[in-house]
Amino acid sequence: MRNKLLDSGQKWPLTLVSASLGIGVIIALMAFANMADRSAVEREQALFQNGFSGLLDEHARRPTAVALWDEAVRNLDVSFDPEWTESNIGEYLSGVLDLDLAVVLDRTDAPIYAKLQDDPGALSKVGSALAAAAPLVENVRAAERRRGPIADHMSAMDGQPPKVIYSTSISQTDLGPLALTATLVQPDFGLALPQTSRSAVLVSGEIIDQDFLTVLADRYLLREATLSAPTEARLPGHAALFLRDSSGRAVALVQWRPQRPGAEMLRLSMPLVFIALTALIILAMRYQGKGRQATERLVASEARVTHLAYHDALTGLPNRLLLVERLRSALDAVRADQQGFAVLSIDLDRFSEINDSFGQQASDDLILKVCRLFAEACGPSDTLARLGKDEFGILQTNATRESADALAMRLIQLANEPLEIAAGRVFSGCTVGVTLIEDANLDGLECLRRADLALNRAKTAGRAQYAWFVPDMDANLRQRLEMREDLRAALANGDLSVAYQPQVHHGGELYGVEALVRWNHSVRGQVPPALFVPVAEESDLIDSLGMFVLRRAFEDSKQLGNLRVAVNISAAQFRLSEFLPNLAALVSETGVDVERIELEITEGLLLGDDRSTLQTLADLRALGFRIALDDFGTGYSSLSYLQRYPIDKIKIDRSFISNLGADPSADAVVNAIVRLARALRLDVIAEGVETEIQRIRLAAAGCDDIQGYLFGKPMSAQAIRHLLNTSSPFTEALGQKAKHRVVV
Ligand code: C2E
Ligand code: CA
Ligand code: CA
Repeated sequence: MRNKLLDSGQKWPLTLVSASLGIGVIIALMAFANMADRSAVEREQALFQNGFSGLLDEHARRPTAVALWDEAVRNLDVSFDPEWTESNIGEYLSGVLDLDLAVVLDRTDAPIYAKLQDDPGALSKVGSALAAAAPLVENVRAAERRRGPIADHMSAMDGQPPKVIYSTSISQTDLGPLALTATLVQPDFGLALPQTSRSAVLVSGEIIDQDFLTVLADRYLLREATLSAPTEARLPGHAALFLRDSSGRAVALVQWRPQRPGAEMLRLSMPLVFIALTALIILAMRYQGKGRQATERLVASEARVTHLAYHDALTGLPNRLLLVERLRSALDAVRADQQGFAVLSIDLDRFSEINDSFGQQASDDLILKVCRLFAEACGPSDTLARLGKDEFGILQTNATRESADALAMRLIQLANEPLEIAAGRVFSGCTVGVTLIEDANLDGLECLRRADLALNRAKTAGRAQYAWFVPDMDANLRQRLEMREDLRAALANGDLSVAYQPQVHHGGELYGVEALVRWNHSVRGQVPPALFVPVAEESDLIDSLGMFVLRRAFEDSKQLGNLRVAVNISAAQFRLSEFLPNLAALVSETGVDVERIELEITEGLLLGDDRSTLQTLADLRALGFRIALDDFGTGYSSLSYLQRYPIDKIKIDRSFISNLGADPSADAVVNAIVRLARALRLDVIAEGVETEIQRIRLAAAGCDDIQGYLFGKPMSAQAIRHLLNTSSPFTEALGQKAKHRVVV
C-alpha cells in the first residue's frame, strides 16, 4: 500500500502536506516543550521561595526557648552575668541550635555579649551584623511599647507566658548573607521582671551558606543547588533565584538544575517525528496520532512535575509541603466546627545503622516496606507523608485522644516486627510523637513542630515508644540543658560516686556487685541515674561518665577480693569508636583482673543485626570481659540474639520479679527465661528481688542468683568490704539459718 501511494500522482501534494504538517508539529512540540520547562522552573522557584521563608521562620523561632525565660531576664536585664550568658545563651545558640551568631543588647541597645561561631569574645567583629539588625531591633522595640509594661501584661494574660516578640530578615553583612533575628527577652512565668520598660534583646543569626542551602535543596528535591554572590555569573542550564533582604536588595544567588519535562519529551518524540517525515504518506496519518500522543504525554509530564513537587520520589508518598498544606485544610475544617485532628511525627530507630551496615539499596528497601505497613495502619482519609530520610508524619482526621493513642501504638507494634528485605532480616523499630489539634488558631507548621517536640521527648525516654505533646516541653528542653551543664560540672568537680549492690547466690553467699553511679547535687540532693544518664547519652558526656564509672569500678574491684563487679555500659558509649581502645588502656593502667569484670549491656544494642556490635562484643570477650544482658524480657527479646551474640549471662528484669506470685504470667515468663538460659548454658540472675516470696518462687523456677533490696541496697565500696568480713551477712534476709558463708 505504501509503494502504491508513493508512486501515485498524489505524491507531491501529500509530501507537501506531510512536510508542512511535520514542521508545524515540530514547532508546536518545541513550543509546548518550552512552556512545560518554563512552568516547571516557575513551580520549582515558587516551591523554593516558600520553603526558604518557612525555613527562615523556623530559624527565627528557635531562640524562643531561651529568650522567653525568667532566668534570662534575671541574668541579662536585672543584672548582667557574663558567665551565665556564655553557658546558657552562647552555648545553647551555637551548640544546640547550631547558629553562627549570638549577641545580647542591653536596654539601651548597646551590645554586652557577642559570640561568633565558636568565639565567645567577638564583640569587635559583629559591627556589620548589628548594623544590619538595627531595623529588626527597632521593630522589636515598637512591639515592646505596644505590649506595655510586662507586669500589667502578664496579669492581664492570667499568668500565661507572654507572646514571643521577634523580627527576622536576611541581610548582607561582612560575614556574608545572614539570616538575622532579634528576639525580646521576656519572662515566662514572671519570677523575674525587667527593671525598666525596655528589656534586653537577643540577636541571633545564621550565615546562609552551602550547608544552609543543602537542607532546603534536599527537602525540595532541587538538583545540584549552589549558592553564590548575586553578581556571580549564571551557570548554563540552571534555574536561578535571588534571595533578597527586606528592602528588595539581592544578597545571594541560588542556582540549580531544574526538571526539564519538555526537553525530555522532545528527546523522546523527535526521532519519531523525523522518521514520520521521511515516510511521507503514512506520516500524514501518523502525524495526527503522534501529535495527540505528544500532547497527552505533555499533559502527563506536567502532572508528573506537580506530583514530584508534592511527593517523595522514592515512596510516592506526600512530602512535607503537601502535609503542611493538608494540615492547613484540616485547620480550616476545625474552624468550621468540625472535630479535631491528630498529628504524629515518626522516626525509625535503626535506619542509619541499617543504612551503614547494608547500604543505600537496603535502606530504600526498608523505607518502602515500612511505609507500606504504616499506610495500612492509617485510615482512608488520613495523610501519611515522608518528611525526611527516616522521618514520617501522619495527619489523622476526625481524631480523638483514643484514636491517636491506638494509631501510635499500632505503628510502634508494626515497626517492631522483623522485616525481610533483600539484604536479610532487620528490625527497624520506631518512635512516635503525637499531638491532638483542636485549636484552629495554630498554623500548619506549629502543628508539626508540636508533634516533633513530642517525638524528641519519646526519644529521650528511650525509643520504641510514643509521647504526647505537652505545653511544658519547651521548658523541659531547658531543664535538660541545665542538667547537662550541671552534670558537666559535677564530672569536673568530682561530685559523682559509685555505689555497689550485692549479688547473692541462693544460699546467701555474696559473689558479686553491680556498680551504680550516684550524683549528690549540691542543691537538688541525690539525682537518680534514670534522669541524668539519658541526658549524658544525648550529649558528649556519656563517654566521660562511662569512663568515670569504669575507672572507679576497676580501682575498687582490687579491694573487693574475688567479688565479680558488674558495670553498666550504655549503648551510646558502646558505639563510640574510642570505647574499645580507651577500655583496653584503662585495663592496663589500673591492672584490674578483667575476668572479674562483667559488662551489662541492653537488648537495644543487639537490634538491627549490626556487624560492628558483634565485632565489639567479640573483642571485649577476647580481652577477657564477661557480658551480661540487662533488663532481659523488656525489649525485643529474641532467641536469635542469644544464640548469635557472645553473651554469658542474662538479668531478668525487675518488672517480672515484682509480679511474681501476683500475676501467673510473670511466673510463666520467669520459668521460660530460666529454662531458656539453661538450654543455652547462660548464667541467669533476677534483679529487683524485694520479698521472701519472690525469692522462693525464683528458687522454685531454678534461678539461683539474686540481686535486690531483700539482700541489700546499693552501698559504698567500703560497706561491701565490711560485708565481706562479716560471716553470713544475709542470714536475716534469708529468714533461715545461713548454710553458707561469704567466700572470698
Ligand atoms: P539497672 O541497670 O537496671 O540497675 C538496677 C536499678 O534497680 C538500680 O537503680 C537499683 O538501685 C535498682 N534496684 C536494685 N534492687 C532493687 C529492688 O529490689 N527494688 C527496686 N525498686 N529497685 C531496685 P538506679 O541505681 O537508680 O539505676 C537506674 C538505672 O540507671 C540503671 O538500671 C541503669 O540503667 C542506669 N545506670 C545506673 N548507673 C549507671 C552507670 O554507671 N552507667 C550507665 N550507663 N547506666 C547506669
Ligand atoms: Ca544494670
Ligand atoms: Ca536492669
